[in-house]
Amino acid sequence: MSTYETGAIKSLKAGDLLMQEGESGDCAYIIETGSVEILIDRDGVPQVIGTRGAGALLGEMAMIDDQPRTASVRAIEDCSVLVISREDFARRTESADPILRMVTKVILTRYRDMLGRSQLIVTPPDADLADPADLETDQELRDLAVNTIKIYHELKHALENNELQLYYQPIVDLETCRIAGFEALARWIHPEKGMISPGVFIPVAEESGLIVEISRWALDESCKAVKQLEPFSDGGAPLFVSVNFSVHDFSDQDFLHHVTTIMEKNGTDPAHIHLEITESLLMEKPHVAKEALEKCRDYGFEISIDDFGTGYSSLSYLHSFPIDTLKIDQSFIRSMLAQHSSLQLVKSIISLAKNLEMRVIAEGIEHPEEAAALRELDCEYCQGFWFAKPQPLEEAAALLQNWTPPSYQADKAAGGK
Ligand code: C2E
Ligand code: CA
Ligand code: CA
Repeated sequence: MSTYETGAIKSLKAGDLLMQEGESGDCAYIIETGSVEILIDRDGVPQVIGTRGAGALLGEMAMIDDQPRTASVRAIEDCSVLVISREDFARRTESADPILRMVTKVILTRYRDMLGRSQLIVTPPDADLADPADLETDQELRDLAVNTIKIYHELKHALENNELQLYYQPIVDLETCRIAGFEALARWIHPEKGMISPGVFIPVAEESGLIVEISRWALDESCKAVKQLEPFSDGGAPLFVSVNFSVHDFSDQDFLHHVTTIMEKNGTDPAHIHLEITESLLMEKPHVAKEALEKCRDYGFEISIDDFGTGYSSLSYLHSFPIDTLKIDQSFIRSMLAQHSSLQLVKSIISLAKNLEMRVIAEGIEHPEEAAALRELDCEYCQGFWFAKPQPLEEAAALLQNWTPPSYQADKAAGGK
């Protein structure tokens, strides 16, 4: 285990050693404030061969290949450095493109070889401290990496501190106008920054592997939500809660075991839970996804394909995966009434789903005209701000209890298209 976890901040006083030549290194560091000098041992005498300031990345070589540090690093003044741990880095590279991994490894080996032969090629001691960017990485890329590291670190603690919450958005049956179910959508209520959108933290969670923990938490919360919502359902088809999953969840060998443990702990019938996975994530690892989805289907979950139509995938996969529902991406709904081609696409997806005996949910309905048009097209379910926004569980339960569907036909007659 690394001494520090990714995202930890380490403080140094002037004169403190950050790393020692010859020792094994388990972390890399990004200097946030202050500056350091790089030293190598020449016949027992430490010799300064370069300096680094804010923004510089240090110690990355030993972190990557587990070889001894090639130099020592000492603070010239008080410094604060941001940590990247070996375990975290190894997990990230494990799932990286193999060509990228291979090229990185070859470059590193050659660089070490070069260092061994010509001693060192680093910044001269009098180089401009403020601008290490040319030697390392461009600022935009570094800022992006630092931001990702910080969100990851905060998100990890957010999970421990129960800062995540699920909001529930109703999915309405267009034929009966009843609420058939809800989609559970994660929100991060940050104590200082307020509500953070899943668009910001879900991609970081997916890249870092934290998504596995988030998905289990979301399933557990959704089981509890079913218990609270079910008494207000009208007793027709089982009221469902749709939970977003990522294909990274499926890569875990024990995925089904964890999922079934959560279901059993809550005593939830799987008929009340739908699993949503986006078309594009599904196509990232189709074989892994297919196997996991088949097990989930056998267990009793229904499977929905999210953002359908945006994944540029071949239609042939549709009948080889166990799919119950297609969710038409909101981009098509948004342009459906203005663009003939979008309307044709929506029509095609609806008839495709019907031919394959799948259900269809149209997402992102913001206007009554869209709901009316979708009903005419025989679309079964709709979800969108026009019906209701995602909301906390208590409000969703009250909405279900007092549900009066908005009248799109009256609106239509009163001046819609
Ligand atoms: P999604 O799964 O496609 O969820 C639907 C998104 O559309 C939600 O955004 C919802 O608030 C928004 N939406 C619903 N109706 C309308 C509408 O009428 N107009 C517009 N403009 N938007 C509408 P949200 O909650 O910001 O979530 C964004 C994405 O984050 C989700 O897209 C999903 O991919 C991801 N996400 C959210 N929660 C989770 C989670 O628990 N796990 C995972 N893996 N992903 C999640
Ligand atoms: Ca979704
Ligand atoms: Ca969607």
